[in-house]
Amino acid sequence: MPFYPPAWVPKLPFDPPDTVSVCDFMLNEEYGRHPLGYSKAPFTCGLSGKEYSSLEVKERVDYLARALAKELGWKMNEGSEWDKVIGVFSLNTIDTLTLAWATHRLGGIQTPANAAYSASELEHQLRDSGAKCLFTCLPLLQTSLEAARKCGIPKNRVYILEMPTEATGGQTTPKEFKTVDYLVKEGSRLDRLKPLEWEKGEGARRTAFLCYSSGTSGLPKGVMISHRNVIANTMQIGVFEKPYRNSKIEPGNQSDYIETVLGLLPMSHIYGLVVICHASVYRGDGVVVLPKFEMKTYLEAIQRFKIVSLFLVPPIIINMAKNKQILDQYDLSSVDIIFTGAAPLGKETADDLQKQHPKWVIRQGYGLTETCTVVCSSSPHDIWFGSSGSLLPGYEARLVTVEGHDIEGYDQPGELLVKSPSVVIGYLNNDKANTETFQDGFMRTGDEAMIKKSPGGNEHIFITDRIKELIKVKGMQVAPAELEAHLLTHPHVNDCAVIPIPDDAAGEVPKAYVVKSPSVSLEENDRMIAREISKHVEEHKARHKWLRGGVEFIDVIPKSPSGKILRRMLRDKEKERRRQQ
Ligand code: AMP
Repeated sequence: MPFYPPAWVPKLPFDPPDTVSVCDFMLNEEYGRHPLGYSKAPFTCGLSGKEYSSLEVKERVDYLARALAKELGWKMNEGSEWDKVIGVFSLNTIDTLTLAWATHRLGGIQTPANAAYSASELEHQLRDSGAKCLFTCLPLLQTSLEAARKCGIPKNRVYILEMPTEATGGQTTPKEFKTVDYLVKEGSRLDRLKPLEWEKGEGARRTAFLCYSSGTSGLPKGVMISHRNVIANTMQIGVFEKPYRNSKIEPGNQSDYIETVLGLLPMSHIYGLVVICHASVYRGDGVVVLPKFEMKTYLEAIQRFKIVSLFLVPPIIINMAKNKQILDQYDLSSVDIIFTGAAPLGKETADDLQKQHPKWVIRQGYGLTETCTVVCSSSPHDIWFGSSGSLLPGYEARLVTVEGHDIEGYDQPGELLVKSPSVVIGYLNNDKANTETFQDGFMRTGDEAMIKKSPGGNEHIFITDRIKELIKVKGMQVAPAELEAHLLTHPHVNDCAVIPIPDDAAGEVPKAYVVKSPSVSLEENDRMIAREISKHVEEHKARHKWLRGGVEFIDVIPKSPSGKILRRMLRDKEKERRRQQ
């Protein structure tokens, strides 16, 4: 049985255009963007207060694109977008989106990497994506240089996104590196670029962002997100939100429509990138940018900039709910809405926070990199804790059984399949994953969901379980297959399987089941071997991938006759153990 958005969700006003780049869509008013002159400064630094007006952002994008074209020898409307891939490995800055849109202005691709990555993880992404240059920030410069050297990106193709001194510990950019500011100045002296000339459909075929996700199984893969995908989800979010925003508009007063929102989540992840940076800026909102979560600077920024909407992930909400006495030291009266997504928010946590702040509307959204973010979201008029709300306009959804039969009716769990103009092009160079994931116009989410009817008569989507292998630590992806491949390189590991186990603070953490190799001597005790194996992960992998769930030794990893790890058996074993505790 197909599910559609409820009748009260407005329709998209026009088909998401497929002849324009994300840059043109975001910076020109003809596609419905809030008038630039009336917008809040799109990006304000939450530490220094530095900001650029929307007209300044537009100008900076233009100048930066001119400078990049000269610097990298890229010609307008020539060559493939795959010859124009720019890697970004940075904490959030007020210029991160200037850089993305300048890349798109040239018809190129931006591949943003998680700022927590180690040099080898970054190297993998830069190689896999074919990045020609790398933009980074001072705190991540050494890791960037190591990764760039290993994959053949010369030092003079490493550029710096400036950050305030509060975030760099007072460090200043070494003279040998060009900064975005330097390039913008250089670009202001160069000739205008020709416009992009795209045929009908090109915006849907061309990749704008290459983000990495492990999908339903295996290693992290490049997700090809088209210009039209970004445009579609930006419009879908905008339209879904409009009724709630509209109620604030005073006739004739454009500026009442806009808000200040929090830009704390990583702009390298689809949630930060599309929901916060694109959808908010398109609406004319101002994003207060913070490079990372630190309770004091976070609360100070809310108070100082009178932030209205907080885009968060469950671990931050848990932290807030547990630290009422700290929150009470700040004036947080500007806050109206808390959005949560990227991982499930427990009903108990939502209840706790709501009791402390009855005025706040706590809303949950659900989405994936492969849907260019939001699939569904709860709406202020019908909050049901635990629910991820209603489908956004332009979506169609189905629930299917393990055998692939459609589920009819409510209250029955099944795998969620979705169709939308925001569903991405596919995975880069991976036919197998593409065939498994994208079928008959629908995308298999790998998540188990259930549709329930609220007392008010609305259909609500509940994400009830994860069928796919993915582990989510603080909202960030950990691919079990990646850790398993790494663990197998350790001499003491003969076989292994990694599964998620619940964690109060992080949501989930990875745990490894290991079969010791026969070479391990009897004298070496299990605790020492487990420590060595954990260290092997800590030395090579980003912090969120560390084995905080522990290492447990086992005689044999349960597998199907075809050799597939039966993770469900290990997860059930964990559940049973917890039940007995
Ligand atoms: P990512 O591509 O990193 O955004 O990860 C997408 C995955 O995160 C989804 O397939 C879900 O497993 C999980 N996820 C995202 N939002 C939610 C939510 N509201 N509730 C439960 N799981 C979620």
